[in-house]
Amino acid sequence: MDQHAQPSSIATLMEQMAKMTSQREQRELERALLELVSAFLQSDSIALYGVRYAESLPELKLLQVAEKDSQISPDSCGWLPAGDDARKAIAIGRDHRAPWEYGGHIWQVIYQKNNIIALLQIEHGPLTPDELGFLSGMVRIHENYLRLLYDAERDMLTGLLNRRSFDARLYELLDNPDYQHTLALVDIDHFKLVNDRYGHIVGDEVLLLVAHHMEQVLGAHAQLYRYGGEEFGIILRDEPQLAMTRLEALRENIASFNFPQVGAVKISMGYVLIGGQMLPANVVEQADRALYYAKENGRNQTCAYTQLLQRGEIAAQIPYEGDIELF
Ligand code: GH3
Ligand code: MG
Ligand code: MG
Repeated sequence: MDQHAQPSSIATLMEQMAKMTSQREQRELERALLELVSAFLQSDSIALYGVRYAESLPELKLLQVAEKDSQISPDSCGWLPAGDDARKAIAIGRDHRAPWEYGGHIWQVIYQKNNIIALLQIEHGPLTPDELGFLSGMVRIHENYLRLLYDAERDMLTGLLNRRSFDARLYELLDNPDYQHTLALVDIDHFKLVNDRYGHIVGDEVLLLVAHHMEQVLGAHAQLYRYGGEEFGIILRDEPQLAMTRLEALRENIASFNFPQVGAVKISMGYVLIGGQMLPANVVEQADRALYYAKENGRNQTCAYTQLLQRGEIAAQIPYEGDIELF
C-alpha cells in the first residue's frame, strides 16, 4: 500500500470507526463518517448532501462539510435542484453503489432501506482499489447504523415514530419557549370490538390503515407517532384554530373510509396548545383529559382542552411540580 495516500494508522482509523458506531443521532453519525473518510483519504474537502425527490428530479441540501481541519454544519441551506454531476452520480449510484470518480471528485451515494438519501462529494483524485474498498465498506457500515437508528425510533407495525421518539420530541419542544405547537392524542373508538369480532390480524390492519390516513391527511403538517396500542400522538406546528381544522379533516377522512372487512372505524381526539414553561407530563395529561371528554360524550369527535376548561366542562388540573420519575 502507498503510505503517502494513507497516513492515518490502522489504530486511528479503528478508533474513528468505533466512534462512528457509538453515535445515536443521525447528524452525529454523519459527522463521524465524514471525519473517518477525511482521515483515511486525506481529502481537502468532503461535503455531505441530503437527497430527496421533487417530481422525480433529485434535490440536494448541504448537511455537513469537512474542510481541512474543520467541520461545518450549515444551518440555513435549503433544498436546491441537483447539478449535472450530482444527478449523474445519483443515477450511477442507483445501479451500483460503488464510488464514481469524475472531475477531481469522488461521488458516493448513501442508502437508507432502498432509497438514496444522501450523497458524499469528496475532493480527491482517482482512488486505488484499496481506497475504493475502504470507502465502500465505511459507507455500508454507516448505512447499517443508520438503519438501526431508524428502527429504534419507529414503530414496527405502522412505521410511524414510536413512543420513545414522542417523549424525546416533547422534551425538546417544551425546552424551547419560542415556539408553540399543538399536541393531539388520538384513540380509535371501540377498537377492542374490532379485535373481538374480526381477530387481531384484522385489528393490526386497521391500525396500519389509520396510520396511513394520518400520513395522507397530515403528513406534510405534523409529526405522527404511535403512542401505544391503538393510540396515536400528533404534533402540529399550527396554532389551535388551524390545527383543529386539520384534525377534523383527519377524523372525517377516517370516518368516511370503508375499512376492508370491518366497515366504519371512528376516532376520538383531544388536543392542547403547547409551549414553553410547561412540563411534558402536564401537556400529555391535558390532551388526554380532552380525549377522555370526547370519549365520554359520544366519541367520533375532536375536543380542545382549553375550550373545555373555559366552558367549565372540566376542572383545572393540578400541575405536577418539577420533574417526576415515571419509572
Ligand atoms: P374506546 O372507544 O373507549 O377507546 O374503546 P376501545 O375498545 O378502543 O378501548 P380499550 O382500551 O378497551 O381497547 C383497546 C384495545 O386495543 C385493547 C387491545 O387489545 C387493543 N390493541 C392494543 N394494541 C394492539 C395492537 O398492536 N394490535 C391489535 N390488533 N390490537 C391492539
Ligand atoms: Mg385506548
Ligand atoms: Mg380506543
